[in-house]
Amino acid sequence: MFKPLDINENDENRKVEPTDAEKVKCLIVGSGPAGYTAAIYAARANLSPVMYEGLQPGGQLTTTTEVENYPGYPEGVTGPVMMEDLKKQAQRFGTDVRWGMATKADFSGEIHKVWIDDSKVIEAETVIIATGATAKYLGLEDETKYAGGGVSACATCDGFFYKGKDVAVVGGGDTAAEEAMYLAGLCNKVYLIVRRDVLRASRVMAERVKKTPNVEILWKHQTKGLIGDNGVVEGATLVKNLGEAGEEEVKINIDGFFLAIGHKPNSDIFAEYLDTDDVGYILTTPGTAKTKVGGVFACGDVQDSQYRQAVTAAGSGCMAAMDAERYLSEKHS
Ligand code: NDP
Repeated sequence: MFKPLDINENDENRKVEPTDAEKVKCLIVGSGPAGYTAAIYAARANLSPVMYEGLQPGGQLTTTTEVENYPGYPEGVTGPVMMEDLKKQAQRFGTDVRWGMATKADFSGEIHKVWIDDSKVIEAETVIIATGATAKYLGLEDETKYAGGGVSACATCDGFFYKGKDVAVVGGGDTAAEEAMYLAGLCNKVYLIVRRDVLRASRVMAERVKKTPNVEILWKHQTKGLIGDNGVVEGATLVKNLGEAGEEEVKINIDGFFLAIGHKPNSDIFAEYLDTDDVGYILTTPGTAKTKVGGVFACGDVQDSQYRQAVTAAGSGCMAAMDAERYLSEKHS
């Protein structure tokens, strides 16, 4: 699926020298809703954007089934179809969408350099970072086995499919608390699987989730595996008091298993030049997509630990392209 892009595909041993650099006005890295929306706006503003899709073309949405909360699709749409539509729309206005992954960046000069697949160098006047975030998983084999059959890392995306059913949420932070409460409004019962005897979530969120009648908090429980038939989740095996006196195995019957143990923003290769928070989310000037480096903008989940929705990502992609267009017109005026 991953095809490295090289300007000299016929000569594999050839080292790419700086003269091989391609100069572009606007480089977009990442192809989720933020990247494609930035591309649509940048292309219509004549910035001739070049987009590299990254390792997961279409981003996180391509792993969800139905998207029902994106405005404009009254009957819903599948994640992959929606991303294909966004891609077509970006290409219609001239976005050059390419396979390839950004592997290194140098934002030390006025012209920004980004390496693609460790070989080709793009010299860009503006760079829009839309590399997203990756949900963390526990690392259990069963998470892969039951992917698409009851395992999800987004309650807002997939919760609706578990209406009236019993589900579990793993985690003790604000996301877990928020997702547990969201699911409690839809589901019959929500187990919140917390590995310690306290919640990391803010006090107000913790109190709220504790008071929600159909949320049962399973303190000091860890997930051992999932149970199911034909790749569909029917339950989970947990361990209570792992490694302590009173350790015991507990089984729960559930139809959905939601991970809420945090996300990792895909900002590593840019972090040296930009401000990030403790977790790695890129910091932007509030109300804009501007990073601390002129001409470098960030949008979507790589700079958003709070909302992480397709529609908010798309909105911030629009902001990034408009900020890039203004930056260029001021630079060249
Ligand atoms: P956090 O890192 O805050 O919390 C992760 C939770 O998952 C912790 O309870 C942690 O346990 C648990 N966890 C991590 N790894 C494992 C594991 N392997 N097994 C079991 N449990 C595990 O992530 P969040 O996504 O909750 O929040 C990220 C940031 O976004 C935070 O700053 C949060 O405040 C913010 N946020 C704010 C919201 C709001 O204000 N409305 C909504 C959502 C997020 P432990 O505590 O033991 O480490």
